[in-house]
Order: sequence, then C-alpha cells, then structure tokens
Amino acid sequence: MTMSNRRSFLKSASTALTGVFGLPGLSMALQEATSPYKRPKLKITDIKTTYLQNFHVRIYTDQGLTGDGEAVDANSGAAGIVAGFRMFLTNQDPLNVEAIWERIRTSGIFGGAQAGQYVTALTAVEIALWDLTGKALGLPIYQLMGGKMRDRIRVYIDSGTDNRNDPNAKAFIAQIVENGWTMAKIDVDDARDPARFDRVNWTANNAEIDHMIDKVAFIRESLPRTIELAVDMHGRYDVPTAKRFAKEVEPFKLVWLEEPVPPENIDAMRDVRQSTHTPICCGENIYMRWGFRELFEKQAVDIIMPDVQKCGGLAEAKKIASLAQTYYIPIAPHCQASPIGMMAACHAMATVPNFLVQEWHWGHPAERLARWKQYVQEGDIIQKGYITVSDRPGIGLTLNEEAMKKMVRPGSAWFTA
Ligand code: MG
Repeated sequence: MTMSNRRSFLKSASTALTGVFGLPGLSMALQEATSPYKRPKLKITDIKTTYLQNFHVRIYTDQGLTGDGEAVDANSGAAGIVAGFRMFLTNQDPLNVEAIWERIRTSGIFGGAQAGQYVTALTAVEIALWDLTGKALGLPIYQLMGGKMRDRIRVYIDSGTDNRNDPNAKAFIAQIVENGWTMAKIDVDDARDPARFDRVNWTANNAEIDHMIDKVAFIRESLPRTIELAVDMHGRYDVPTAKRFAKEVEPFKLVWLEEPVPPENIDAMRDVRQSTHTPICCGENIYMRWGFRELFEKQAVDIIMPDVQKCGGLAEAKKIASLAQTYYIPIAPHCQASPIGMMAACHAMATVPNFLVQEWHWGHPAERLARWKQYVQEGDIIQKGYITVSDRPGIGLTLNEEAMKKMVRPGSAWFTA
C-alpha cells in the first residue's frame, strides 16, 4: 500500500469507527483490539466515608477490590462533598485516576473547587483511586508514578516541647536523640504569652521576641548539631514581626522558618524572604499547582510544604514538586495523617528528585502515639526517622480494622454511605 493510499484508508476507517462508537468508544475499541496488555476491567460500585482522627474514604468495585484514601485539616464537610462526587465515580473504571480527578475538579469550579474543603475531599478520593489501581495491577503506587528514586523517606518529628520550664522537656528531647531522628520542629507562636499587649493583634513586642528566641535557643542547645531544626510561626504574625524574628533567629541556622506571615499575600511572604538569610517555607494551606504558581514565579519562598492529604492528591503533589524543581526549590510535605496517608505521601515523594523531608506529628501525647501504632498491622512504620516505602500493591499496608473501628469519632460511623 502506498503512503497516500494508506493515509486515505486510515482516514475512512477512522471515520467509519467514529460514527459507530463515538470517540471514547473508539479509543476503548482500539485499545482492546491492538494492545497485548490486558488489565483488569473494574467498575466502581460504591464510595463510603468515615471520620477517625482524620477523614477516610473507601472506594468499592464490582470485583471485591477496595481502595483507601485519607484527608486532613480542611475536611469537616468532606463526607457531604464526597457524596456529591458519587455521580462522577459510580460505574467508572477506577484505573483512570487522573481523568476522574479532572472531571470532578472541573465540575466544581463554581462550587469551590479551587481550594479548601472541595479539594481536600477530592484528595482523599484520588488517593483511594491510586490505592485501588495499585492493588488491581499488583504494583506499589510509586511504580505507577514513574518508579522510586529512594527506598526510604526521611521524616522529621514535631519536638513535643519548646520550653525549658516544661517538666517533660528532658524526656521528649532524650527520645528524639535515642530514636535516631535527623530533624525536629518547634512552634514559637504562643497566644498565651503573658507579655502580649493585645489578644487579637499579633505584632510581637520585645519580650515576646525574647521568649520566642529562647525557645529556639533551648531546643538548639539540647539537641546535637547533627539533628536539624525548623521553626513554625503558623502564619499568625505581621510583616514587621516576621522580619525581626527571621533576622534574630539567623545564628541558629534553621532548616526553615515556617509561615512567618499568612500565606495569602505572596508579596508579603517575598518581602520577609528577601529580608533574611533564614530560609522561608510555606504551603500547607495552599492547594494544587495553580495555588503554588505565584509563590514560585515571585520566588517568595525557599522551601514548599504542601500537605499531600489536602493539596489535591498524590499526582498533584508530584506536579507541584515538579514545578518547584524548575525553581530549584525543595519540597518538604506537611503531614499529620495516620500511617495510611503517611505511607501514601511516601509513595509520591519517593518519585520526585527534589524531596527534602516529610513531617510526622504523632509522637505525643502518649495516647496519640499509641493510636499511631495501632492503625496498621505493620505497627510503627517509622524506623530511626525513616519510612521504608512499601513494595506491596497500592499503598501497601494492611489495615488493622478492629483497632481502627474503635477510633471512629463520635457522631461518625465506620464507612457509611
Ligand atoms: Mg505549620
């Protein structure tokens, strides 16, 4: 067949098929006819949710496989929002993760799909779809996302103390050292600081700045130099306070100073960043790649910390990391998820080159640490400040459902419609 004959044959065949099937049907027919790759044909039959410490989603299929996802923080209305996603999920092939994600996102552009609770609810669904896809194909999620660049994910710990007068301080700090952590973080914002002049305004006075610096000095002198330190201001302060503190804390060589001002005004964040050698980090309340774009373009931060359980999902976290990489900015995800969400985030972070470190927030109080160890049959998945990324299908953990059921929040019930 000559080239021109071949072209006209393909054109007429394509026209005929399009007329019979329409474009999606044609695509499916071609795949089935030409691909030697026979993947399972699954259909989503149901989606259910429950609240424990965080919000959990479970997606069910016609072949008995299920997928689990978790979302944090902006999740108080997530059950209702996910119920609204049902029409976009039922009867769909769960392996089309990004197509489903995009359809739900774009269908909600007049309903808050740019950020907040809508994206947080979508995030839990997206993670459950990846878990399901991995289980269906017999592959860990990191393999579906391009393969892993590292076997272990470095994790840092919220210190549990920041005050030299805390009677528990010595024990907390000893545990950080004994358990092999390589990095810790403390909070310096204190709404109850007796030196505050005003209960509403957060301009810190000299005494407050002194108290904040003393917290950093205390923890820094208590930990060996090999354990790095970050400091969180929780986006409470104004620009003059942020600049003063960022300057005064410079000698402590922090890994980062987190949200010295609120994240909404990128110019203010850049103003603080340009005033100091202390690296500035933000991102736990920013959503999807569009939310991060201006931060990068204006070079307003040194490090980003999206929350993988609310920023849009695993693929979205990877896309945000890729954007950051073009500006040579590392990613250090905020994380307060259970082992399920924590391991899900590890899969995504195993696949990005510019991953720095991931947060862990369950070290205290003792009851919370006890719950952390009960979620999955693998127990405590952190060893010496690292999580080994699971090589098992999906997220790759075995849920300890009997223990989890006992953690269901009052007012919620175990995976209900
Ligand atoms: Mg924070």
